[in-house]
Amino acid sequence: MTLTLLVATTNPGKMREIARLLGPLPLTLASLDQFPRIAEPKETGSTFAENARLKALYYTQATGLASVADDSGLEIDALGGAPGVHSARWEGSDYAVKFKKIYERLDARNARGSAARFVCRVALAESGRVIFESEGCIEGRIADAPRGENGFGYDPIFLYPPLGQTTAELEPDVKATVSHRGKAFAALRAYLESSLQRDLELRTPNSELRTTNRSK
Ligand code: IMP
Repeated sequence: MTLTLLVATTNPGKMREIARLLGPLPLTLASLDQFPRIAEPKETGSTFAENARLKALYYTQATGLASVADDSGLEIDALGGAPGVHSARWEGSDYAVKFKKIYERLDARNARGSAARFVCRVALAESGRVIFESEGCIEGRIADAPRGENGFGYDPIFLYPPLGQTTAELEPDVKATVSHRGKAFAALRAYLESSLQRDLELRTPNSELRTTNRSK
């Protein structure tokens, strides 16, 4: 029997990246499309960690499945860390408008290339409690202008200086290696791999024991 893990996100961009990051594991990934009647929880936390926990706990309680939640966002230093935990809804949902507002505010401060980072916090919950948490971060700058077609959200304006490209210009495999989400989910993947391995060992009597029993 394979473990089913619910990926608790309604964001298709996140879902694509998470499916790629957890894909190699021997488990079945479920998505919220399979639970259309479950309403989204209110993200009332003031930190990525609080919101990730809140979402993971809400969905494991609502579905009975082990649930993983990702809370993430873009922090821009010259804007005091905004949009931060409010990234998804900050200045509406149209990214062209969000980018315009960001550049206006940065220009007003003469800080177009401000240092910035994406942060991703992951929480895994099962049977009413959080059993694993991890965090990943990618440091960069705001690009002079939006560039690139890959990724989602704020990727076109986030420049990753070591590669000289925005995260929207990176190939998905490359973004998966260097990104906030890639790092946070690599830790989750290692945790799940060792848990699955432990489970397997518990269910498979070891051969030495079997030999001993038979020789009695
Ligand atoms: P959440 O669903 O409340 O965690 O909001 C996450 C928001 O942060 C997304 O809707 C995007 O606006 C932004 N975000 C998080 N990760 C990324 C990324 O990898 N690329 C671009 N934008 C991101």
